[in-house]
Amino acid sequence: MLPSGPTLPGHVLVVGVDGVRFDFLAADSTPSVWALGRAGFLAPVPVDEATPTWSGPCWATIATGAGVAGHGITGNDLTGHRLAEHPDFVTLATRAGLPTLLAVSGWPPLALPEDGGPLFAEATRREFTAVPQTSAEAGLAAWDAADEAITATAAAVLAADAPRVSFVYLGAVDLAGHATGSGAAYRAALRAADQRVGRLVAAVRSRPSGPQENWTIVVVTDHGHLDEGGHGGREPEVATAWAAAAGPGIRPGAPPPVTRQEQVAPLVLAAAGLSSGRA
Ligand SMILES: [Zn+2]
Repeated sequence: MLPSGPTLPGHVLVVGVDGVRFDFLAADSTPSVWALGRAGFLAPVPVDEATPTWSGPCWATIATGAGVAGHGITGNDLTGHRLAEHPDFVTLATRAGLPTLLAVSGWPPLALPEDGGPLFAEATRREFTAVPQTSAEAGLAAWDAADEAITATAAAVLAADAPRVSFVYLGAVDLAGHATGSGAAYRAALRAADQRVGRLVAAVRSRPSGPQENWTIVVVTDHGHLDEGGHGGREPEVATAWAAAAGPGIRPGAPPPVTRQEQVAPLVLAAAGLSSGRA
């Protein structure tokens, strides 16, 4: 006989890892993302032709479910955006009265009123780890430290408080691509990011009440990188982003529910028990 307790509301953890090439994901190099793919789905997500392959517009589309024509962001300065008409999923959850977490490493306009930001307008808990301006070599270590710090903070909040909707952003992989291309340092940063994803998932799983909390885990990137580093164009290794997710509403082996960047936010909101507000 099945237990027939009350249905508990869904919880959603979204980890955004900036600038991760789809063709670098594999069972041995990124086991945490790969495991999500086995439990749910892992799918390439082409960046729309109308969307420049920069972090600003791609994250705006992922966060809001609107395309460039809606949110109005075409570069990494968000000034002039129409986010008030197209709020991000953390803001919508916060306005619906849910406890939320925004935890961002390194890139200010996602979380702070800089460069036209914040992209994520409202959250009940907001954490930002700054990366000091420094040389390229020192920059790699500084971004790694910032990602490490935000992971520790977010893991503690997830384990203790279980916010209903969380967005955690890791930026060191993208910085490595810009600094050195898609080589050894980039692969090392990607391994570190995947381990951090694993720690965030483990924090959720550590909760004694976790199995009843209907957790959906989403990991998503915004764009890829050229072999020599850099992005902004339409090359396949740049314009092929990806998403992975697993949770009670996601059936392994079914067609992936996310094949466009606009489909991430509706999936998050639905898993949290909220309508997307876009009929
Ligand atoms: Zn980016």
